[in-house]
Amino acid sequence: MPKHETPMVDQLESGPWPSFVSEIKRQSEARHQKAKEMEEAGKPYQIPVDVCDDLLGVLEMSFKDGTTHWKHGGIVGVFGYGGGVIGRYCDQPEMFPGVAHFHTMRVNQPAGKYYTTEYLRQICDLWDFRGSGLTNMHGSTGDIVLLGTRTEQLEEIFGTLTHEMDQDLGGSGSNLRTPACCLGESRCEFACYDTQELCYQLTMEYQDELHRPAFPYKFKFKFDGCPNGCVASIARSDMSFIGTWRDEIRIDQEAVAAYIGGELKPNAGAHASRDWGPFDIQKEVIDLCPSQCMRLEDGKLIIDNKECVRCMHCINTMPRALRIGNDRGLSILVGAKAPILDGAQMGSLLVPFIKAEPPYDEIKEIIENIWDWWMEEGKNRERLGELIKRQGFQKLLEVTGIKPVPQHVQEPRHNPYIFWKEEEVPGGWQRDIKEFRKLHQR
Ligand code: SF4
Ligand code: SF4
Repeated sequence: MPKHETPMVDQLESGPWPSFVSEIKRQSEARHQKAKEMEEAGKPYQIPVDVCDDLLGVLEMSFKDGTTHWKHGGIVGVFGYGGGVIGRYCDQPEMFPGVAHFHTMRVNQPAGKYYTTEYLRQICDLWDFRGSGLTNMHGSTGDIVLLGTRTEQLEEIFGTLTHEMDQDLGGSGSNLRTPACCLGESRCEFACYDTQELCYQLTMEYQDELHRPAFPYKFKFKFDGCPNGCVASIARSDMSFIGTWRDEIRIDQEAVAAYIGGELKPNAGAHASRDWGPFDIQKEVIDLCPSQCMRLEDGKLIIDNKECVRCMHCINTMPRALRIGNDRGLSILVGAKAPILDGAQMGSLLVPFIKAEPPYDEIKEIIENIWDWWMEEGKNRERLGELIKRQGFQKLLEVTGIKPVPQHVQEPRHNPYIFWKEEEVPGGWQRDIKEFRKLHQR
C-alpha cells in the first residue's frame, strides 16, 4: 500500500519508455523488504526507510501546486571541501519527513567509467545504508550521482569513500567540475590520443581547483578521443579536447574494393537488422563528405587530405578500409555552455593541433593562461564562453599567446575596416594621414 496517493506522478509510468517513477517504486519496495534484514545484521538504515515514498509524495505535490518544494538551505559539505555535495531540503518536512534533507553527493567517476563489480556492490551497499539507495549513473558532468541523504551522514559517507574505497568526491559549484573522457585507446580504434591518461593527469594536477571553488562560475573539461565526440565535449565543456590527426587518412584500397564488392559490410555491420540494399560508395560516402574532398578514380579512392575536415564519416562507414592518420594529437576548443545566463554556445576552435604527450606541459600552460584571464576579468556567474563573447576572441588569443591562424576565422569579414592598436601604429592615432595610408599599402 503506497504511503501517498500519486496519480499524476503515476502517469509517468505509461508509455513504452523506462520510467524513473517505476524505478523509485522498485527501490521503495526493496528498501522496505530489506529493513528487517539490515537491523538484524546490526546495520539499520541511517535515513528513514520511507525516503522513496516521500520522494514520490513531494513530487506529486509539486505537480499539483505547479511549483517546487525543494529549497536551498545554505551550504552543506564535508570538511575541507567546497564542492561535491549539493544541498537539498524539503519545504514540507512535517508531511514528508523522509526527504526533509535530500542532499546529493557527486563521486568522481574513474576515467572511461570502468568499474569492478566489487566496487559497484560496495558503493550500492554504502548508499543503501547511509542514503536513499537511489543513484544516477552517471550525471551529465560524468560523476556517479548519489541521490538523497541527510546532513549528519555526509562526513560518514565521505570517510568510507576516501578511507575504505580510495574514492574522491567530484566537483560542484564555482569550481572545476569532474573532468570526463571517452574510453579512448582502451577500446576504440579511432582514439587519436590517450583520453583516459590526459583526463586522469589533469584531474590530479588540478585537485585544488576541483575541491575549492575560486572561479567566477563552473568550468568543465571533457576529452573526446576523436571527432565522433562520444562525450560531446564540443557542446558540453568550457574546454574541449578533441582528438585529431594532421597527416593523411590511411587507405587500404583492397578493403575499399571489398566494401564496393559487398564482401565487407559498411558501418561494421551495425545496421545489419535492416536490409539497406547493396553498398553504394558514391552515395553513402563520397557524396556525403562535407568538404567534397573524395573521389573514385579507376576503382581507387582518392582523398584530398588538405581539404578534409576530419568529420569521421568515411572512416565510420568503412572502418576496415580507412583509418585515422599516424601523426596524432588533439584540437582544443573553448567556450561551450548550456543556456543558463546567455544562450547555448558550441566551443570555438582555439588550438587546431597540439601533441598530447605526458607531462602535457603545453596544454597546462594554455589552461592556466585562460584561467588567469577568466578569474581576473570574469563577472560573477560568467562562463568562459560569455567572457569570450564580451571581450572578444582576439583578447583570448592575446592572453594565451596563441597566434591568429585562418582556422580561427569563422567567415570572411563583412566590412573593410581594420582596427589597429595604438602600439601597432608608430606615433599613435594622431599621426599624419599620409603615413597612415602608407602603412595600409604595405
Ligand atoms: Fe572512440 Fe572517438 Fe568515441 Fe572516443 S570519441 S570512444 S575515440 S569514437
Ligand atoms: Fe570527407 Fe569527413 Fe572523410 Fe574527411 S573524414 S574525407 S571530410 S568524409
